[in-house]
Amino acid sequence: MNYFLRVLVVLFSLNTLHLMSQSDKVVLAIHGGAGTILKKNMTPEKEKAYHEKLTEALKAGYAVLQKGGTSLDAVEAAIVVMEDSPLFNAGKGSVFNSDGKNEMDAAIMDGSNLKAGAVAGVHTIKNPIKAARAVMEKSEHVMLIGDGAEKFAQEKKLEIVEPKYFYDEYRYQQYLKAKEQNKIEMDHTDSVKTKSKPDKHGTVGAVALDNFGNISAATSTGGMTNKKYGRVGDAPIIGAGTYANNNSCAVSCTGHGEYFIRAVVGHEIASLIEHKNLSVKEAAEKVILEKMVKMGGEGGVIVLDKKGNMAMPFNTEGMYRGYITSEGKVYTAIYKEGN
Ligand code: ASP
Repeated sequence: MNYFLRVLVVLFSLNTLHLMSQSDKVVLAIHGGAGTILKKNMTPEKEKAYHEKLTEALKAGYAVLQKGGTSLDAVEAAIVVMEDSPLFNAGKGSVFNSDGKNEMDAAIMDGSNLKAGAVAGVHTIKNPIKAARAVMEKSEHVMLIGDGAEKFAQEKKLEIVEPKYFYDEYRYQQYLKAKEQNKIEMDHTDSVKTKSKPDKHGTVGAVALDNFGNISAATSTGGMTNKKYGRVGDAPIIGAGTYANNNSCAVSCTGHGEYFIRAVVGHEIASLIEHKNLSVKEAAEKVILEKMVKMGGEGGVIVLDKKGNMAMPFNTEGMYRGYITSEGKVYTAIYKEGN
């Protein structure tokens, strides 16, 4: 083979390798909360239900991407599936605050232009993530709270429900127990069942990459059981629980919100990538497995960049999580060791 041909062959195989690794890229990753999620406290039925719901959420977001939809549409579609399920602490199934009410927070961010929208302390909007998106696209603001956010959602014709729609008996028992013990608890706690240390989290989040090469992030939560009325967690705070920037990554967090706010986790991970050239994995692990551990902040994160590199570290026993690749390969897991 002459020199010219050899060069062509090498170039061709390099390109094929590149395409192969490209086709394996992650296009959507989700979480459904982190915490002391132990196999011994789980029934096979519940385990199956979580895997199925995570898969449904991934497929809903993936279908949007397949049709040429944006990463914003994909994260919203995945979050809506989880908000509509009582398995997660977001939308239906949200935890109760110290007044025995459900007060929800949500945020969404577009990494292509840094536009963002958020709502906090809402209690009649069926899908808080849709309200967050409406704030981003149909107002001049980034965050609306409480009654103002509700009024805005009504004006924008979003679905409004009676507060009792969010009622879930198991969550209510969690609340009564927490109130009796004068504790503020993370969700997914088994303290009702097992009287174990209550330290689980149940927020939902999604990060996606679309065919245009843009990334987005979204997070939705009921917050923490028995939280003080009016308390706002990290999820709706841009740069803390939710962040997206094409130059670095898309991030969605779950965990003890106060710590995630103080450590500005989302933006911290993005800054390590953009300014220190850390990989997605290195940056996410540095913040969640080093910094947050030192601070005592429990939780986890999902991070995705525009090349489809993804990381999902957590410093708790488990985190409901999953991802789907550009070829449609689905992976879901609950425990530290996987599945
Ligand atoms: N981060 C949420 C909050 O503090 C709770 C969670 O992730 O479960 O509101």
